[in-house]
Amino acid sequence: MAPKYHPTPVSGSHRKALQKELRASHGMARMLADQSDELRSKADALIRQADRLLCESWNERMWADGEPIDPSPTVDQALNGGFPWLEIECSRCRIKRDVSLAELPHVDSTCIHDLATRLRCERCANARKRPLATLLQLMPRRRHAEEAP
Ligand SMILES: [Zn+2]
Repeated sequence: MAPKYHPTPVSGSHRKALQKELRASHGMARMLADQSDELRSKADALIRQADRLLCESWNERMWADGEPIDPSPTVDQALNGGFPWLEIECSRCRIKRDVSLAELPHVDSTCIHDLATRLRCERCANARKRPLATLLQLMPRRRHAEEAP
């Protein structure tokens, strides 16, 4: 894109004034863009903090009340909040397993509690009626070793 054309003023002092105005305008544009970047990164950090608190709050309620509680954070909120693991327990064999939320096929708006009906124990895959998983908590780090296939 060609730079915007400013008609050259006839008098020297007007030319100088125009140059000064252009420098000031470029400076202002840079400053505003920097402020915008700074606020956006502060906002991202605040959203991350809000997502982390939401996950911690859900964990507290899961511990106190149990069951996959609705509402729950979305998968993306859990990932953004630093809780990329979901601990589940098979309702049949009682084996606990960690599910990597990042590797789980999902849409942005999928809520954690909605996963209860989708997650099944791999060990009990051949049981007559594949048992449902019980959701336990969101976790920042994996706790259980990878299940042997
Ligand atoms: Zn099982």
